[in-house]
Amino acid sequence: MSSNAANTPMMIQYQELKAQYADCILFYRMGDFYEMFHNDAETASRVLDITLTARNRKDPDAIPMCGVPVKSADIYIAKLVQNNYKVAICEQMEDPATAKGLVKRDVVRVLTPGMLVEEHLLDDKVNNFIVAIAFQGKTWGLACLDLSTAVFRMTETRSHTALRDELGRIQAKEILVPEGFEQEESNAFLQPFFSRSRISPAPMADFMPVKARNLLLEQFEVRSLDSFGIRRAGAGVGAAGALLHYVKENQKQDIAHIRGIQLYALDGILLLDDTTFRNLEITENLRDSTSRGSLLQTMDKTVTSMGARTLRQWLTYPLMDTDAIDLRHQALALALETPLVRRQMREKLKIIHDLERISTRIIMGRCHARDLLALKNSLLMLPDIIEPLEHSPSPLFSFHGEKEKLLKMAETLDTAIREDTPVQMDQGGIIQNGFNPKLDELIAMARDGKSYLAGLEAREKEKTGISTLKVRFNRVFGYFIEVSKAQSASVPADYVRKQTLVNAERYITDELKIFEDKVLNAQDEQIRMEMAIFEELRQQAAALHKDIGLAADFLARVDVLFSLAQLAEEKGYSRPEMATDGVIDIQDGRHPVVECMLQNNRYVPNSIHMDNIESQILIITGPNMAGKSTVLRQVALIVLMAQMGSFVPAASAKISVTDRIFTRVGASDNLAEGQSTFMVEMEEAANILHNATPDSLVIMDEIGRGTSTFDGLSIAWSVAEYLHNLKKKGVKTLFATHYHEMTRLADSLPRVRNFSVAVREWEDNIIFLHRLIKGGANRSYGIQVAKLAGLPDSVIHRAGGLLARVENGHALWEENTTATEDGATPDQPRQLSLFPGPEKVIVQTLKEADINTMTPLEAMNFLAILKEKA
Ligand code: ADP
Repeated sequence: MSSNAANTPMMIQYQELKAQYADCILFYRMGDFYEMFHNDAETASRVLDITLTARNRKDPDAIPMCGVPVKSADIYIAKLVQNNYKVAICEQMEDPATAKGLVKRDVVRVLTPGMLVEEHLLDDKVNNFIVAIAFQGKTWGLACLDLSTAVFRMTETRSHTALRDELGRIQAKEILVPEGFEQEESNAFLQPFFSRSRISPAPMADFMPVKARNLLLEQFEVRSLDSFGIRRAGAGVGAAGALLHYVKENQKQDIAHIRGIQLYALDGILLLDDTTFRNLEITENLRDSTSRGSLLQTMDKTVTSMGARTLRQWLTYPLMDTDAIDLRHQALALALETPLVRRQMREKLKIIHDLERISTRIIMGRCHARDLLALKNSLLMLPDIIEPLEHSPSPLFSFHGEKEKLLKMAETLDTAIREDTPVQMDQGGIIQNGFNPKLDELIAMARDGKSYLAGLEAREKEKTGISTLKVRFNRVFGYFIEVSKAQSASVPADYVRKQTLVNAERYITDELKIFEDKVLNAQDEQIRMEMAIFEELRQQAAALHKDIGLAADFLARVDVLFSLAQLAEEKGYSRPEMATDGVIDIQDGRHPVVECMLQNNRYVPNSIHMDNIESQILIITGPNMAGKSTVLRQVALIVLMAQMGSFVPAASAKISVTDRIFTRVGASDNLAEGQSTFMVEMEEAANILHNATPDSLVIMDEIGRGTSTFDGLSIAWSVAEYLHNLKKKGVKTLFATHYHEMTRLADSLPRVRNFSVAVREWEDNIIFLHRLIKGGANRSYGIQVAKLAGLPDSVIHRAGGLLARVENGHALWEENTTATEDGATPDQPRQLSLFPGPEKVIVQTLKEADINTMTPLEAMNFLAILKEKA
């Protein structure tokens, strides 16, 4: 070989294209395959588990290569994209058969995790968001787009925490940032998101608000952004513009369906910070980050994917406006009154396809005839959903689009598209008989041709007497007559030989040639015409995207409301009373998820009352495994469910609108990022103390556990005091602790109340009753729980003895104490085990300290001093 493998014309073409798409895996079309070379080939073969070969294997500069068939490329592309790679699809831009020299090739599309619209690449229940972040002055701008549904939103904030929390809620597949953004020290607070999503850098200039604004104006065909409530071109506009630019560049397609942007504020919703969102397992569990066992999964009874996505949205952005919340509750109550109608309508909803995504595919020209069929079938169901709800007193059940227009479209599609339209559109068979007379004629010609052929075969057989004679067709030769070798001697003179096979000869005749031209032309013409009609229908449907969008919103809302009603009915939920007086009162409440996991109604309901007057901070004591965490989470989830518009798992509930829910529970997965449990715990606590307001709800589960008992108790104590005195009003807090000493807080703080989770002692064992009762626990029952967990008897016995010794005021290491192994002298008073010896000094120091004015560092130093005194 003269030229080496790397500089053949084709490889030069490849290199040029690759240079333009350096950050992508380039799928280079070669006939029926997409080939990948060099590093791309190495990556792809590893990720896709396909064989790595080489181009010009014998050449010393052999090029690593691998390929996938075009036919099944989708699954490979999906896998790469799911693994956070960017894939550029390079097609042959001319027919290789007619091209002179090297076939022209170009990239027609770039796929990234955040820019998918294909049905089979998407999770139908989850929005596929791509987010852009910009920073301007002191403000963060965030824009997020789901290309597949045309949801496009932007917000701005000055707070790092708010930005982080919002990113936590959105769960974007891809984040667009200015070049160099992740490396900047000041952006390190976003680190967790850099590892969770694909990060795509874009030129800084794209984020410039002025440039970005112009792009948005052009896209939306408006003269100002005022109509979207956007008055200033700041960081938010910068982010939105950069996002739009990125998507346009990579899609190389019409994205006209993105007609506007919604400005939203981060302060009108019940905020759950990122940690809380994950701790409460709202959309994903903590174990394996799937939806299994999440609140969303438990609540989701929707029957359409549009509904499923909307439910997720409601759950992620619970409301704070009591009127808006009441409106949802009212609609639910109405839906519950007519269970039969609701069930029938849910059956109808099941027939409805994902109109949002279909509409997008229609506009982007990526739709199939089956999409139009699905659109038709869905639109035809509309009257069945709209009409029964027409006179409903709830505005949430009314449809604001133009029903007639949509139905007319559905009728057109009904007469146009065949029900059995094939998956592949290149062979025709899409358009109904009778829709277009010219098309019918062509189809008849093609069809008659087939019977003509059968006739021809019979006639020729008879004429020649050749029994093996057959009329056949293949792509290379078209129509021909085939005769077995043995009988080929008797063919008539007008047969022209075309091809000789081992056992047969193939001929053509003038008659066959004329026929062939006619039929093949008719077929070609038929396919061309069907495609033209299809395109016309596609454009008609595309022009209706606004009304289709309104229908999609309406159907999604109805589906969610019915789903919540269904849930309420199945699980016996009740309508919460919304209030603003600060009272949270839940009678016989249940944890919505745990309840479902326990069989035979084994869940023990619990009642809880909180207000800002006397029962503001509830200290909940009780042994491990008693059910403290469950009660805590249950309250948080019930508040959240009420504010998102759902009924709640309780006999009755009065819920005061809450602005934020904070949680400090269990070890969080930051551990993987190398932070100690204690440090994470303290950071989370600091976040709560800094950001809670008197309208918040705080859940503190076992704070101070990650350090020594003495430190832990002191911190827990001072945190509780701080929350009690927060902004002179205090904040409603559920404080679970196994430090039973904490119950003493109620002696000095007026709004602290003690509760415990009941256990029954039976012989040397304990039985968990899971019932919340007034009053604190006076024991930890740690040893009994350890016994339940199966620690060896000797260890349990020894621990029991040691405990008795400590409880009698002796140190563990004082082997020569007077206490016997089996316990204390009965008349000796029990002491706080934590204060042996110098307790007085320490208590005094604690009393004198003004913990409210201490910084966390001072608190740590203070602890160190106390420790020295111990
Ligand atoms: P703690 O926080 O006190 O250690 P948990 O709240 O983790 O205890 O509860 C331990 C287990 O007890 C849970 O996994 C759950 O199965 C069960 N449980 C908790 N609360 C209840 C309840 N109210 N009714 C029935 N079982 C419960």
